[in-house]
This record gives sequence, C-alpha cells and structure tokens, in this order.
Amino acid sequence: MKQFSNLRNWKIRQIFTLTCIFSIALFPISVVNAAVKAGSACPKAGNTAIASGKTFTCIKSGKKLVWDKGVLIPKSATSPKTPELPPMPQDFQNLASNLEGIKYWAWKKVNLEIEKNNSVLGQVEIITGPNTVPAQPNTIDKLTIGSKLFGTFNQIKKIYIIKFNYQDIEWAQSKYQPYQDQTWRSDYLTKAKNQCPDTRCRNAEIELNSKDEGIMMVGEIGLSDQPKDKMENAGRYNGTREIHEYVHTIQMFNSSNSESRFNYNLLPRWMIEGQAL
Ligand SMILES: [Zn+2]
Repeated sequence: MKQFSNLRNWKIRQIFTLTCIFSIALFPISVVNAAVKAGSACPKAGNTAIASGKTFTCIKSGKKLVWDKGVLIPKSATSPKTPELPPMPQDFQNLASNLEGIKYWAWKKVNLEIEKNNSVLGQVEIITGPNTVPAQPNTIDKLTIGSKLFGTFNQIKKIYIIKFNYQDIEWAQSKYQPYQDQTWRSDYLTKAKNQCPDTRCRNAEIELNSKDEGIMMVGEIGLSDQPKDKMENAGRYNGTREIHEYVHTIQMFNSSNSESRFNYNLLPRWMIEGQAL
C-alpha cells in the first residue's frame, strides 16, 4: 500500500490548494483598489479589499471610515502552485530514476482510460456457495471498471463466477465441471480444491472454455471483522481480485486465436501479472 501514499499525499495537497482557491473566490471581497492602504479613506464599514498581499477591512475610526492595518494573506493562498507532476519514464534506461513517475502516470493513465471508454462487459453469472459469504458483494460493478479500462479490446461475452469457501469445495467442483468442457486440463478434477488448499481459502483463478466463456473460481474465507485483515487483504474486499482475474480473460482472448490458442501462456509472467495487477 505504501506505493500509493505519495499519490494520496499529492491528492490531498491538490485538494488543499483547490480549497484555498475556492475559499478566496467565495470570500466577500470588494474590487481591488489601488489606493487601499492602512489608514486611508474607505467607502463603507465592513468592506474588504486586497492590496499589497493583505486583506484590509473598512472600519470606523472616530468619525472617519478608514482601512485597518490589514491581515497578511498566507503565501500559499495568494499564489497557489500547481503541484509538480513527476516525469514519466521514457525508456528502460530511465525507469529507476523515475519511480515516482511510474506510479503517478500508471494511476493517471488508468483513470483517463476508464473515463474515456464504455464498458463492454458481457453477461456475468455469479454463483455463490450455500455456505459462502462473499467478501465482495458488488462484483459486476467492479468488473465494469476493469472492462472500461480495456474498453478498446475484445472481451468475452459470458463469464461464470463461482464463489465458495472451504465447506463448499465439492459444491464448487460440481458447478465448475459442466462449464469447463476442456476436461484434458491437468487440474480439471481439483480445480475447486486448488483455490482452497486449507481453510484459508483465498486463491482465485480464471480460464476460458472452448466457447470462450470465462469461468472464475474465487475462494472465500468469509467476512472478517478485523480491520487489519481488511487492510492486509484489501484485494479480497475491494474487488481488485475479481478485476485481476477478469483482465486475464482479456489477455487470453486477445493474445490467442483459433490456430494458436496458447500464445497467452508464452507471454512473460511479469507482463501478464503486472498488467492484471
Ligand atoms: Zn493473475
């Protein structure tokens, strides 16, 4: 999570700067007057004016109306600086020296794509085990975000998502088999068990069948009321695990064709997993 903290700080700074700008804009300040200075005549008690980096208020002094001695406006508010954006690395040579840029621009470009594209998410069928409480209840909304991110790529038309806990392993296996017609797969008979090697049932996996339908197997350990667990295993709660698996279907679907179905597996692991991250 540490890698996001700078971005978050940057965001907070940005929000702070904007807040400053808006606060100044909304403050009831009269038109800037060149003659405004401490002690000089002013038109109406209560009026304010900005001059020489100060806010002056029109006050009554004896029978006269004069500008008070003024309050210095903090520098950060008078000249809001746009936060400096970390530079984007241009090639492998300057990757390491632009670490901040990698984080920022990855985040920024992902957000721009999500804003720009429409979702092309196909039909989603979520099947939940009889004893299972899924940690992420809004999976379709989450997958929609993933679909938008890769909205310019072909995506599968149908996806089955089987969510199950340790108790529901056999149930999950019985749901998986009818959807997966590629029975030659080496772990075909242990697919559900592989997501739940023990009661800490938390693996997830996705594959396509011969009709290019996705079958996502999601191990669930149930809801934890431990804030620590929610932080350390955020992916199980916030939908990134499901999006991650869904992105694998986009990779599979776009890197393979009828002649070379398994090109996907020849792609470097760091690229496949890094992109799905
Ligand atoms: Zn993965």
